[in-house]
Amino acid sequence: MRFTEMLNPYAFVGSEIVSEHQIVATIRELYSSKPHIAATLGICLAALSGASSGSVRLCLLAASIAVGCLLFRIFIEFRFITRPPGAFERKWIRLFVTGSLMSGVGWGFSGALLLCSSSPTTQIIIMGVVCAIVQGAAGRAYMMPGTAFLNIISVLGQISIAALMGGNPILAVLALVYFWILSSFIVQMVKNRMIQLHAEHRATQLLEEITEKNELLRISNEKLAATAFEDSLTGLANRRKFDIAIVEALANAKRDNRDISLMIIDVDHFKAFNDNYGHQAGDQCLQILSNAISLCIPDDGLVARYGGEEFVVLLPNYDQASAVILAERTRLAVQFAGLSNLPKSPPHQTISIGLISCRPDLGLTPEELLSGADAALYDAKRKGRNCLRITRQLRGVDATFNDRSSFGL
Ligand code: GH3
Ligand code: MG
Ligand code: MG
Repeated sequence: MRFTEMLNPYAFVGSEIVSEHQIVATIRELYSSKPHIAATLGICLAALSGASSGSVRLCLLAASIAVGCLLFRIFIEFRFITRPPGAFERKWIRLFVTGSLMSGVGWGFSGALLLCSSSPTTQIIIMGVVCAIVQGAAGRAYMMPGTAFLNIISVLGQISIAALMGGNPILAVLALVYFWILSSFIVQMVKNRMIQLHAEHRATQLLEEITEKNELLRISNEKLAATAFEDSLTGLANRRKFDIAIVEALANAKRDNRDISLMIIDVDHFKAFNDNYGHQAGDQCLQILSNAISLCIPDDGLVARYGGEEFVVLLPNYDQASAVILAERTRLAVQFAGLSNLPKSPPHQTISIGLISCRPDLGLTPEELLSGADAALYDAKRKGRNCLRITRQLRGVDATFNDRSSFGL
């Protein structure tokens, strides 16, 4: 802020970087009548001292002017506090500047009257009061220095004139020197205030940047966490997710005493598919098949790509009867899933499924469950592929309560 800008009574220190909320808070502080009460009290005491030494009418006038200024000040403060809600209007700044100018003129005039018309004791008292008043104004000048200058010049200017008229040029010169000292004090204070506001502004900007970056980091972490458990070709859950899910599902089955089923699905003769139609067509085929499998499995089941052309389907809460129905449905859905969209491919592709369903009280490990399903898959391949086989016995006992031989599998 240049010195010329500081002389503008409407100029606000740091208005280009502080928020409107801060400006309103500062104006509220400036509107406070407390310093004016102290100033009026000082002038009235000086007037009382002056009145005791003779010039009662002038002292009464000086005190009345000071009290009048105070009442006006309290009035505008009240108006400001009780202003209607809504956007801050510039008229409140104009009113404040007017109020400050009025106070400066009023105090200066009261001081000048007391200086001209009183005893040396009263003159000393009024000079003390005037110094305190302008010092107070200078102390608050870091917010609106131009208004403070206006106020201080009004007070000290009238005091200087009164001193000259009263034949006391030294006092007039002293007032000017005092003004010069106060001016340098205000300029330094405004500079410091600007440094402080810029530092606060930069800190707020940095905080906003950090918050924004943290949000971006959180979003990319979420995306990363999601992709860490996703198979990139098919969009299904990957093996990592399945490994976690099966441990959890077995623990839940045991806790809730519910059956649990697991299917392993393997695409039939897929090596030949790749050899005949190319790896790219093979990839597209895997996407079509994985989609067909997913559509058959309810939301409480988990379909994952276990590796290569193998898929696993974890079915918590499914006993063998309901799991067999799902498995057969899946096998048929894949068999009839058209591959006609692919440029070069057979019309259909089949899968073989190995299934195991088990009672929770067997306390099986994930590895035992997987090897049980794998044994059934091996059986399905041996039986000619495109079929479902079930492992019924584990650790030499029936794996499930619901062993329905009527399925004939
Ligand atoms: P089977 O009926 O006994 O399962 O025969 P298969 O040919 O399917 O079995 P094999 O294990 O011999 O071959 C699996 C093939 O799956 C070999 C490999 O090229 C192919 N494969 C595995 N992963 C992918 C993949 O991501 N994309 C493509 N296009 N092919 C894959
Ligand atoms: Mg295989
Ligand atoms: Mg295969």
